[in-house]
Amino acid sequence: MTRPDPLPAAVIGAGPAGLRAAQRLVAAGLRPILLDEAAEPGGQIYRRPPPALAALRGPAALYGADAGRALALARMFETIRGHVDYRPQTLVWNAARVAGGAFLLQLRGADGVDADLRVRAVVLATGAMDRVVPVPGWTRPGVFSLGGAQVILKAQAHLIGRRPVFAGSGPLLYLVAWQYAKAGARPAAVIDAASLGAKMRAAPAMLARPRLLLRGARMALDLRRMGVPVIEGALAERIEQRGDGLVLHWRAGSRSGLVDCDAVGMGHGLKPERQLADLLGCPVVFDPRSGQWHSTTDAAGRSPVSGVYLAGDMVRINGAHCAEAAGEMAAGALLRDLGLARVSAPRRALLRLALARAATFRRGLEQAFALPPAAIRDMPDDTIVCRCEGVSAGDLRRAIDLWGPADLNRLKAVTRCGMGRCQGRLCGATAGALMAAEAGLPPDAPGPLRGQAPVKPLPLPIFPKGAA
Ligand SMILES: Cc1cc2nc3c(=O)[nH]c(=O)nc-3n(C[C@H](O)[C@H](O)[C@H](O)COP(=O)(O)OP(=O)(O)OC[C@H]3O[C@@H](n4cnc5c(N)ncnc54)[C@H](O)[C@@H]3O)c2cc1C
Repeated sequence: MTRPDPLPAAVIGAGPAGLRAAQRLVAAGLRPILLDEAAEPGGQIYRRPPPALAALRGPAALYGADAGRALALARMFETIRGHVDYRPQTLVWNAARVAGGAFLLQLRGADGVDADLRVRAVVLATGAMDRVVPVPGWTRPGVFSLGGAQVILKAQAHLIGRRPVFAGSGPLLYLVAWQYAKAGARPAAVIDAASLGAKMRAAPAMLARPRLLLRGARMALDLRRMGVPVIEGALAERIEQRGDGLVLHWRAGSRSGLVDCDAVGMGHGLKPERQLADLLGCPVVFDPRSGQWHSTTDAAGRSPVSGVYLAGDMVRINGAHCAEAAGEMAAGALLRDLGLARVSAPRRALLRLALARAATFRRGLEQAFALPPAAIRDMPDDTIVCRCEGVSAGDLRRAIDLWGPADLNRLKAVTRCGMGRCQGRLCGATAGALMAAEAGLPPDAPGPLRGQAPVKPLPLPIFPKGAA
């Protein structure tokens, strides 16, 4: 039995982390509010197609080796669904602390109507998004992020092209190329910024999750067997239009080449979605290994802001398996702080072990797929960095020369880079890295972009025809 709660706890994000957090809260007798902007639970990895398309590609085709976990999570959610106030298609676009230690969440619901919600504690499990390092031509039609290419395949049973090139680095690069090959595309090439040497050096750390390592190696091998050229240690340089298709130019040291294709999927790993945590005042720390700013937590997922708990990829890109453990841990910490329940010592030890293994594996990935400094340092001036406001790398360099190196928020103020609809989610990291490289500063010197509401683009309500 769940008990009614006048000031409930909210979980934001119904991915692996958020679902396990909700399960833990329900097990303790609470009725949490579970908010997610997606139409179905599952998050990024277990994204579901709309019912009309579900018959086209079953779980095995959609999730491959993760199909079992996807089904287990989906089944678990059905068992708790009646005890959770689940609100799909609900974007949390602002969050603030209000009087009495409560939090105010501002929502845009499925019906397009805004609502305010007061909660006493919040578990943020908002996941991650693509990290895209721009090259000239990346804003052309036909160029997608790797995640976008995967969403089109998973949620729309469609391909970005029949002969796509996949460029960038990280495990998602090989995974998406492999998924496209399995779905009937003939990838024209995989252009991987990471060298074979870097991957070999990182192998000992990645052995912390041997099955995952093997799965990644198998995918790379499968792609080669299917005749897909895999070029390692190579950076995409430029994407041009040629007739109806695209041409991607690449360089690997003194070698260079081009690939004809009909679409490009590009991405350099993932970036935590921590804007809501920023708005709630959660502090961040720069990690030179990931080259990114991360929210800080204790081992259980407590943020330094009382009542705010963080779990899953929005803290560190540790993968879905770890996100489940992190969600359970964070909800356990919340319950403990409210004096409602405690996680048993053996269970806590098991969860900590999963988190520790995932952290070691992630450090291996960060070493193997580190972004080469040349990708930022040698970025041509005509590269659009902020696509919302049309700010180029040259514009940023000129502003840095003129105004001197200061902080990223000042660069935003003078150039409008990061001031557009995406609020710097896409360009902020690149602009910061460019500023540091240009001014010869340590990578953390420009600081992070300040979070701003709305955290994601918010469509304006359309007045009905004839309204005065
Ligand atoms: C684009 C993409 C594709 C990926 N594909 C794979 C893959 O194929 N295989 C793999 O092993 N790993 C993949 N990953 C990584 C994997 O998804 C994650 O490691 C795992 O899903 C993390 O779980 P999570 O619960 O932390 O976050 P997620 O699964 O990302 O879930 C976060 C949820 O929060 C919701 N959300 C975010 N912000 C808001 C907001 N403001 N308001 C309301 N809801 C919000 C999102 O809609 C989402 O459902 C992918 C990651 C990304 C970003």
